[in-house]
Amino acid sequence: MKRRDCLKHRRDVFDLTLMLRAPCNYQCYYCCARGVPKNRFTRLTRESIAQYLALIDSFDAPLKIMRVNSYGEPSLLPGIWDLLGALATRGFVMLATNLSFPLEKIMQALPAASTWLLLTSLHPETEEHLGEFLRKCQLLVSSGYPVAVHTMVDDTKLAHTEQQVEYMRRVGLDCFVSPVQGRDGDRRFPYDLGEDTKLYLQERIDELHPQLLLRHRNLAFTGLRCGAGYSRFVVRDSCICPCMNSDRLLGWLDGEFRPFSEPMPCAAFHAESQCLPDEFLVRSRCYCMGDHRLPVGRGALAVDIERFAELKDAVVNPSLERLRQMRLNDWNDQLAGLGRTAIDVAPFGLSIWPYLELLKRHAKVETVLLDREERPALDGIHQASFKAYRENRNPRQLLVLSTVHAAEQARAFVQSLPDSGLAPLCCFDLPASPPEWNARHA
Ligand code: SF4
Repeated sequence: MKRRDCLKHRRDVFDLTLMLRAPCNYQCYYCCARGVPKNRFTRLTRESIAQYLALIDSFDAPLKIMRVNSYGEPSLLPGIWDLLGALATRGFVMLATNLSFPLEKIMQALPAASTWLLLTSLHPETEEHLGEFLRKCQLLVSSGYPVAVHTMVDDTKLAHTEQQVEYMRRVGLDCFVSPVQGRDGDRRFPYDLGEDTKLYLQERIDELHPQLLLRHRNLAFTGLRCGAGYSRFVVRDSCICPCMNSDRLLGWLDGEFRPFSEPMPCAAFHAESQCLPDEFLVRSRCYCMGDHRLPVGRGALAVDIERFAELKDAVVNPSLERLRQMRLNDWNDQLAGLGRTAIDVAPFGLSIWPYLELLKRHAKVETVLLDREERPALDGIHQASFKAYRENRNPRQLLVLSTVHAAEQARAFVQSLPDSGLAPLCCFDLPASPPEWNARHA
């Protein structure tokens, strides 16, 4: 069923995160956008903006929150101010930005009354012109914009974070502290922060989510009920997913879309980016998708940490196990349909080698397609490039395996193939490694 044929979905709240891919004028070492090739930047055309708006308009909700987030700095994307202006006519807008643009731009596109939050961060390069940054924040606040400054702490910033936070609070700026998240070479943050930094954060931080990251390395909320996929959604490229951590694909901006009919137990294997299930959101907040205006404090936090520890044993861990087993069974059922025939496999966004172990039980894998030139056969399996396959498609069954993160590229590849009379079998929402592999290496 295409969205244009549907009746509106009724919800009390509709909360949408648009994850854009943008260039950036900063070079933060922890940034998840580093290395995004130019051809993957989001193109905000009249058509793509119309698709976002059609999704928003297909929901009937008294409160709509649209969060514009990005890998990179969204204000550098051509078309961003048109998008923000259109969103502002439909509800409240949250924008995550480094605020490096002239403020008139935002004041013209996005009125303060339609702004849910301007979420900005104290990046290393922001500190080089801290005075100007703080003046901008104060001007926005005095013009009625809700602003929150996310102060990220790593080992090098530990010494001066306290002064910065104190100063911002003194001049009336809402700010919150959280650990740097991301990678730097072999180091994974926040886990590999120094002990002093961890101690500082654990003693002072008022945010639940980064606290949990420090305490629970493999954070997951599996099995806890959540509105993601029912009233909260994330759009990446043209894929519509429940949340940033979910492997599920609910549909496409330009095609079918099936939201959940009620809040569902969380089915994500991990929860390392910007989420908390609804059970926690009432009392606490998180970096990106939470409500930064909720009052929080260390006293309230202690109760939540305890509650989470209880739920982890009683609900999350057993649910994780069940989910792994279920996914493995589904996967085996799907593959059993291959009937031990010869197949070619095209992987997107996942490492094919652990998947091959499972595939070989159900089919004879002749060729694996790779995003590079032809390679010699490995373990009896021929390796061909996507380009060569497209130009010389054989009549064997093609199996397309993709994570939701790469689903857009996988779909574009399938659409570019010449007709061979045999439609490819596509799985667009697989985990980056198969459940069996995860279980063995947990
Ligand atoms: S990972 Fe978080 S937001 Fe996503 S479904 Fe689970 S609890 Fe909800």
